[in-house]
Amino acid sequence: MNILRKLTAIATPGIVRNFSVSTSNNATYSCKVLVVGGGTGGCTMAAKFARRLPKDSVIVLEPSKDHYYQPLWTLVGAGVVRVNDTRRSEVSVLPKNAKWIRDYAEKILPEKNKVTTKEGHEINYEYLIVAAGLQNDYKKVPGLYEALNDKSSCVSSIFDKEYCEKTFENIKQHKQGNAIFTYPDTMIKCPGAPQKIAYLADSYFEKMNVRSKTNIIYNTCLPVIFGVPKYAEALMKVVKRKNINVNYKTVLKEVRHEKKEAVFVGKDSTNEITMDYSMLHVAPPMQTPEFLRNSSQLVDNCGFLEVDMYTLQNQKFPNIYGIGDCTNTPNSKTAAAIAQQCYVLEQNLLSTMQKNEPKQKYNGYGACPLLTSYGKCILAEFTYGGIPRETMPFNQATESRIAYYMKKDLFPFIYWHIMLKGYYHGPEKIRTLLNPFRA
Ligand SMILES: Cc1cc2nc3c(=O)[nH]c(=O)nc-3n(C[C@H](O)[C@H](O)[C@H](O)COP(=O)(O)OP(=O)(O)OC[C@H]3O[C@@H](n4cnc5c(N)ncnc54)[C@H](O)[C@@H]3O)c2cc1C
Repeated sequence: MNILRKLTAIATPGIVRNFSVSTSNNATYSCKVLVVGGGTGGCTMAAKFARRLPKDSVIVLEPSKDHYYQPLWTLVGAGVVRVNDTRRSEVSVLPKNAKWIRDYAEKILPEKNKVTTKEGHEINYEYLIVAAGLQNDYKKVPGLYEALNDKSSCVSSIFDKEYCEKTFENIKQHKQGNAIFTYPDTMIKCPGAPQKIAYLADSYFEKMNVRSKTNIIYNTCLPVIFGVPKYAEALMKVVKRKNINVNYKTVLKEVRHEKKEAVFVGKDSTNEITMDYSMLHVAPPMQTPEFLRNSSQLVDNCGFLEVDMYTLQNQKFPNIYGIGDCTNTPNSKTAAAIAQQCYVLEQNLLSTMQKNEPKQKYNGYGACPLLTSYGKCILAEFTYGGIPRETMPFNQATESRIAYYMKKDLFPFIYWHIMLKGYYHGPEKIRTLLNPFRA
């Protein structure tokens, strides 16, 4: 059966998308464009190039059978939507014209223009797009993984499909004591999310009349509440109004869930503080996938794919580009950033294919809808250097209802129906219409 499957996979282009490839397969594939990772960036880029190139010229290497719209996990944690509402099958979001190999990248061999996979396949490419995202690194905090997996513990995380519904369970069960929210000492996706869930929990506690018996603590490794001064100022007013205790440069070091204790350490010191909690929400440390960290020719010291921050091209190997959370561009790691990056990458890769220099430049755009309560949101939009670049014709540092519904309803619609199909390039055009006179 395995031999039959192997022969069929080699002889019939495109068949792989229907199979989970078995371990005894050692097939060799070749393509014009190989996309590693079928998440936000990978699907978007695959759609763009599958449309331009003949059938099966694009291969997507992605192990998961499902694709999630992660930005809604914050509202899963707040009990507004269910995790199932954020899921689609991977096959339904990949372009029909591309070939899906359901497997893990194991090694990139850039000199040979080849990627090897966990199941023993080899994929030869002419051009490579790395879109492998960020993964949670639970092992970095002793006791965290055990605590998350203990259903009876009050420890959860909106950063994982497995634990985001548990966040709302914990919020509902909380009656009094310390509700602690953390931010780790690594690069993370959506740097606003760890505080958004604290604000939503505050609103829920208010509604349930337990807020007066609750001490909300936000322990962040950062020295500020948010990296863009305009929005940091607005968020400090929210923090003050909600009476949230913020401890800067404070990092979660250990979870002792049987005792309901969390150990923190100062970022610049060795002083440990142990805090007891009634609920603990953790934004876990994150890292790029192992295969990428091991590709020493391609990554920086932290394991992120090295690309030019404007063109998104790797400087050593011009036929390699990167998009999304796994690259070393100094922007906020968000799906909103990918919406702008995808057009730049498309145009620049087309130039590379025609032996021209890449000309399009990514301006570092990212957006973060900072939910401040049920029905309210500060819609932060900014470019490299933390310069605000707002789309709407009002001051987006004010808490607005419209921004909340954009986050909850409009952005998911754009994501599933336009962005993953490769047609959405961020709000620049809309901005020119709505906001023609702003810088
Ligand atoms: C709680 C939360 C809230 C967020 N809120 C917002 C928000 O409000 N606004 C916003 O714009 N963004 C938000 N984001 C961030 C956004 O979801 C991410 O920035 C975006 O999805 C990253 O896309 P990506 O393609 O880089 O990575 P991903 O979408 O994570 O895709 C990476 C893919 O690579 C695959 N992969 C991993 N290892 C391998 C391997 N060895 N071989 C092959 N494939 C592999 C994975 O299976 C995955 O499918 C939020 C994220 C979270 C978790």
